[in-house]
Amino acid sequence: MEQMLSVDGRLHTTKSSEASKMDYDVIVVGAGASGLIAAIAAAEKGGSVLIIEQKEKAGKKILATGNGKCNFTNMHQTPDCYRSDDSTFAMKVLSNFDNKRTLEFFERLGIVPMNRNGYIYPNSEQAVSIVSVLLMKCEALNIDIVYMEKVIETSEPDFTVTTVKADKGKAVYYGKKLILATGGSATPKLGSDGSGYLLAKDFGHKIVKPLPALVSLKSPDKFCKTVSGVRTRAKASIYVDKELLIEEEGEIIFTDYGISGIPIMQISRYASRALDEGKSVYLILDLLLNYTLDELIGLLINRCNNNPDKTTEQMLVGMLNQKLNYIIIKEAKLNHESPCHILSKSDIIKLAKVIKSLKVRINETNTFDFAQVTSGGVKTSEIDSNTLESKLKKGLYLTGELIDVDGTCGGYNLQWAWSTGYIAGKSTRISG
Ligand SMILES: Cc1cc2nc3c(=O)[nH]c(=O)nc-3n(C[C@H](O)[C@H](O)[C@H](O)COP(=O)(O)OP(=O)(O)OC[C@H]3O[C@@H](n4cnc5c(N)ncnc54)[C@H](O)[C@@H]3O)c2cc1C
Repeated sequence: MEQMLSVDGRLHTTKSSEASKMDYDVIVVGAGASGLIAAIAAAEKGGSVLIIEQKEKAGKKILATGNGKCNFTNMHQTPDCYRSDDSTFAMKVLSNFDNKRTLEFFERLGIVPMNRNGYIYPNSEQAVSIVSVLLMKCEALNIDIVYMEKVIETSEPDFTVTTVKADKGKAVYYGKKLILATGGSATPKLGSDGSGYLLAKDFGHKIVKPLPALVSLKSPDKFCKTVSGVRTRAKASIYVDKELLIEEEGEIIFTDYGISGIPIMQISRYASRALDEGKSVYLILDLLLNYTLDELIGLLINRCNNNPDKTTEQMLVGMLNQKLNYIIIKEAKLNHESPCHILSKSDIIKLAKVIKSLKVRINETNTFDFAQVTSGGVKTSEIDSNTLESKLKKGLYLTGELIDVDGTCGGYNLQWAWSTGYIAGKSTRISG
């Protein structure tokens, strides 16, 4: 007999280990978002399912999502919400289990959704509600879960899975099908430590280099530190080798080491990949979105004419965060103390240009410890988009962040986990 932790964390003896001594129809590696839904979909029409989780409880990352409120999907779904080496793969998968199917699934489990401008949360505004309903369903379906065991190896026949336990002892389980739902490398303290890539590689899968995404960016420009803590609305445009790649608007935050905020996180995966390829990366920040450059020049000329005796720094007060005024004048190579009446038109144009296009050089991203997701992962060309089954090994399925798809902020990464997990779990019943 085998002792296991039940879904509520209590030790119990599993039925299936009594009956079949660690043999299962489906083994799922990882009790995260995609693993839990995959196990449910696999168990829903019968069959024995085991989830192996290396942490002490399930869904640790889900609990951290959306600042603990869990933005679990989004009503707006377009191809640009999902990024990958293959831009078509994600939408093919989503066409088989989309946001509406996700909402139906969670409503069936007991979640009342709350729609905040298209961003969907549980009405409880508690991520724990999502984990709880998933675990209740696992229990109802007699899914076994072992905790504190890390899968270190898989071998034949079929899927003979070896784990190492917290006490360093080993266990072996046998599954007819195997779902790798290990997540990527982002925020490893929540469980996803990159070990899934090694397991996938053992089956011959190629991995697009995993890099941090939805992460803040580091800059060698000292002015970031000077204005650390300043939050302001801006448009951030990312340039790679001087070529504009993508622009995002929203609240940016200057930090001691560089720059953060939602628009920065959204474009960070491009910085990650470009820096890894040795390319030059910088951002251009538009700090006054409501004015064109010409309108801003006019505005500054008026402010100077109306306040000829104010210093340049005083003249800017009221337009932007005051800490920013200091660096704008410095970057325009003007004197903070110069009275407005001595500023020339070209001085004013210089000021306006810095406000509309402040350059921030980027030399690093923050590490995986601070990244919300992973860019890169198992190559999509080696996975069947209809079933999430490996094209290299029959009976093996891959889900969630482990695959080379990363979503933007807004519920897209969990949507990806639900879609891939559900389809993989359901497909284990269809194939073979
Ligand atoms: C702070 C934060 C906030 C976020 N907020 C949002 C949000 O609001 N909305 C959104 O859509 N996305 C959000 N995300 C991203 C989202 O949480 C993930 O993309 C998603 O959880 C990935 O699901 P997954 O099943 O692929 O992996 P995970 O949820 O990471 O689960 C993988 C599981 O596998 C286990 N595991 C790994 N390797 C092994 C092994 N060898 N043996 C046994 N077990 C193993 C891990 O312990 C883990 O429990 C956020 C992420 C973070 C870090």
